[in-house]
Amino acid sequence: MKYYSTNKQITGETLANAVVKGLAEDKGLFMPDSITEIPAVFYDNIDKMSFQDMAYTAAYMLFGDDVHANMLKLMVNDTLSFDVPLVKVEENIFSLELFHGPTLAFKDVGGRFMSRMLSYFIQRSDDGNRQVNVLVATSGDTGSAVANGFLGVEGIHVYVLYPKGKVSPIQECQFTTLGQNITAIEVDGTFDDCQALVKTAFMDEELNVKMKLTSANSINVARFLPQAFYYFYAYAQLKKISEEAARNMVICVPSGNFGNITAGLFAKRMGLPVKRFIAANNRNDIFLEYLKTGEYKPRPSVATIANAMDVGDPSNFARILDLYNHSHEAISSEISGISYTDEQIADAMRACRKDTGYLLDPHGACGYQALKDMLEPGETGIFLETAHPAKFLDTVQDILGEKIEIPEKLQEFMKGEKQSIAMSKNFEDFKAYLMGK
Ligand SMILES: *Cc1c(COP(=O)(O)O)cnc(C)c1O
Repeated sequence: MKYYSTNKQITGETLANAVVKGLAEDKGLFMPDSITEIPAVFYDNIDKMSFQDMAYTAAYMLFGDDVHANMLKLMVNDTLSFDVPLVKVEENIFSLELFHGPTLAFKDVGGRFMSRMLSYFIQRSDDGNRQVNVLVATSGDTGSAVANGFLGVEGIHVYVLYPKGKVSPIQECQFTTLGQNITAIEVDGTFDDCQALVKTAFMDEELNVKMKLTSANSINVARFLPQAFYYFYAYAQLKKISEEAARNMVICVPSGNFGNITAGLFAKRMGLPVKRFIAANNRNDIFLEYLKTGEYKPRPSVATIANAMDVGDPSNFARILDLYNHSHEAISSEISGISYTDEQIADAMRACRKDTGYLLDPHGACGYQALKDMLEPGETGIFLETAHPAKFLDTVQDILGEKIEIPEKLQEFMKGEKQSIAMSKNFEDFKAYLMGK
């Protein structure tokens, strides 16, 4: 399979190059030349398959030309070593819990899969013995998922850039305490500043001569595409419960950089019968504005209690535009949007806890409330519960007025010692630091 850039200046790139480069030279995002539909018999039998087997079929469609079958199977199995249960919250509303992995958030799948795929390609490349440096900007969960996915992987060093004071202490400890090949960089700025530093670094000629750089943000195809696996599994589990419900499945995705939902759109192109998607936003509602007006107007992000969605210029919007040939009408017919203030998010968390007993985190709460507000008669909604509520401990405890149990995996991280490098949001400072490596 060949890859082209959403800016159309770069075409015919191999998967290996797309993964190693992350972002194309023309600043566009890589897209596969074609998306193959999986034969109907797969969907007929999907409810009888294991998560690993169905994910392998999807992975084979996406990457099978370029990765040896046995290796691809290993990558998939190694990545999907935790459960992703579909939990009934109330009549017609289900939560797909994506938080049972190593760092308790959905990005674990992309982080782990990408580390395996990147190391596969570097071992096979001509300068396979030259260290690869992964730069990743995080609003919280990406950093931990990528850092833990890459921890101890030979030949790869990871730099995690995060906005000072804007990630929760529990999130922070998941990537600042690891040591080894992981360096945490605390930027005096916002998430968008971190993302800009990373993007500028890729475009800096001098820096790219000095060191081999790549990105592990959802701009990287090996990071965002494996998230499609979740959507197949959601459908399979719902089908097992009710064929009728599965035929009318609506998936609601709490969205920030729009990598997760874009993976879902890919799954649909591969034939997965998703009736429609809902993108749930916090006050950073640039996508919703686009749906309403047809104009995309990025703006600086504002801080909210669903901080992993505080994105003012979602990277993967370029992929969505490309998938639908820039047709506002086509996009609006498959995806609808909604946005919530912090107060509304808190209300949703309290109401859901009181009415159903289910514990939401602030991101999942946007998804849940969007289904409450937008699901139509006859539809069954699944929202993606993107992180464990304990990752946002203080927020959740304050809102609900109850003590939340911290899973053991999280407690382990909290025992470590924080190590990070302080950095301004000025690119020249960041560059000087990297040039000194
Ligand atoms: C990253 C993240 C999101 C947003 O996902 P995108 O792929 O960036 O749209 C939502 N919730 C949580 C908990 C996250 O970590």
